[in-house]
Amino acid sequence: STVLASQKNLVISIVITLMLPISTYLILVGEVYSYILAFFTVVLSSVLLYAARNTHNYLVKSRYQAYHDYLTKLGNRRYFLEILDSFIHTQDRGYAYLLLIDLDHFKTINDTLGHDIGDKLLQEVSLRMEKLSVAFNNTIARLGGDEFCVFSNEYETKEECLEQGELFAEKLLCVIKNSYYIDGNSLYISASIGISIAHTDDIDSTRYLKEADMAMYEAKHSGRDGIIIFNEALSLVVNQKLNIERLLHFAIKDEEITLNYQPQVEHNGKMIGCEVLVRWKNKEIGQIGPDVFIPIAEATGYIVELGAYILEESFKTIQEWSQKGICLQQLSINISMRQLMHQDFIPLVKSLLKEYIDDDCKMEIIFEITETSTTEDLTHLIAIIDKLKKHNISFSMDDFGTGYSSLSYLRSIPIKELKIDQSFIANIQDKQQASLVKTIIDISKNFGLVTVAEGVEYEYQRDILKDLDCDVCQGYLFSKPLSKTDFESFYNSYM
Ligand code: C2E
Ligand code: CA
Ligand code: CA
Repeated sequence: STVLASQKNLVISIVITLMLPISTYLILVGEVYSYILAFFTVVLSSVLLYAARNTHNYLVKSRYQAYHDYLTKLGNRRYFLEILDSFIHTQDRGYAYLLLIDLDHFKTINDTLGHDIGDKLLQEVSLRMEKLSVAFNNTIARLGGDEFCVFSNEYETKEECLEQGELFAEKLLCVIKNSYYIDGNSLYISASIGISIAHTDDIDSTRYLKEADMAMYEAKHSGRDGIIIFNEALSLVVNQKLNIERLLHFAIKDEEITLNYQPQVEHNGKMIGCEVLVRWKNKEIGQIGPDVFIPIAEATGYIVELGAYILEESFKTIQEWSQKGICLQQLSINISMRQLMHQDFIPLVKSLLKEYIDDDCKMEIIFEITETSTTEDLTHLIAIIDKLKKHNISFSMDDFGTGYSSLSYLRSIPIKELKIDQSFIANIQDKQQASLVKTIIDISKNFGLVTVAEGVEYEYQRDILKDLDCDVCQGYLFSKPLSKTDFESFYNSYM
């Protein structure tokens, strides 16, 4: 079989050169038995040749299936890894670029329009990518799902290879993004592309695939629809993230998570509430800021567990403070969108309210949310907010003015409070910036919302905000976020 798969003609000629002299000899003998034997030899040769042809076809077919993807007819992961491996082990010292391409939001198309259309879209994308790859003499494969890989031919210098890799990636992204028309649907799709440079010197070929993968993930994280080239700094960042992700899973159990409280003050100087801010101190890597670990927890889904813990601890604090006579009007807790949208969230809040919060509790609970691009399901969000409002929980729009905030968003979501992002407050002495803040406060007032400014560090900032009629201020000018006991002392000395 081994010879047959690659050298079909050799097998045929061997059979013929062996059998032909035997049958000729037998015929030349001229006896009855030799004629019969000659006949048998011819039959045997035909059977052997027939079997050889069939086995050959079968082997070619199964080899094709083992190395190709049935849907797009492109090479598969195995095929790709072998090509990569053979490149790395060649004798000449050259460079080649490796592209990892992942389609953006393909799952959404699959889920909403069905797998039939999803498959057809994949075929069409593959066709376009293959055409371009062939034009550039590159090899393309489908690694699985909506993930593809392109491997280039060899370049002498790394610089040239990189330049050509970028050029190709840009062209490829352009080709992918041209609109599609499938079964009456006009579709649009973009991709995140990671590039790594492979060198013939190395031993481990999968390393380059991993590097391209890291670059591709970075492209996804920085908003998708883009190209990122792998470098060592990126590898450091990715490994740090993975390390944080690993350690974070033990943070609750090891009692490494604590809460801080930052006062909120009205412009007449009265302290009306505080915001709960989470802190994490790990014995191995020390103190890590929530701006670092919260996004990681959100990406991995751990935020559901972490958020539940923060919520319970916050509710315990409310209970404790009510008993101690610490009377605040409100307490604000940051809630991630992913946590809020989780099916267990409302039952959790209800059970915590029942356990820790008395009916005569005077402290209003506010959930701070930020709008993100992923808030696709606005009606779902509004339904959740409405349900929680029935349990006396109010909502605040955090970091207003950054990212995806829009007026229509503000109009449709039943919130009570609006927090102006601290980036606006930092430069409020600037005339243009001040008029922007004034516009935000006017909008907020028009919607009947309470306006909170965060990141207030200096007296002049507070004075400008007071002139602009901002209701509440929060920032280092009044206090940094404090531990529970420190907050209690601060409260007692303040009141
Ligand atoms: P955020 O909700 O916008 O929180 C305000 C951030 O500004 C806090 O940073 C706070 O310490 C900081 N800050 C307060 N006053 C000042 C000031 O005067 N000047 C400056 N420069 N900064 C000030 P922190 O605690 O590092 O939190 C960062 C972000 O992490 C938060 O932004 C929030 O998005 C997230 N986060 C914090 N705690 C939680 C939590 O319990 N759950 C969730 N889901 N996210 C949280
Ligand atoms: Ca906040
Ligand atoms: Ca904020």
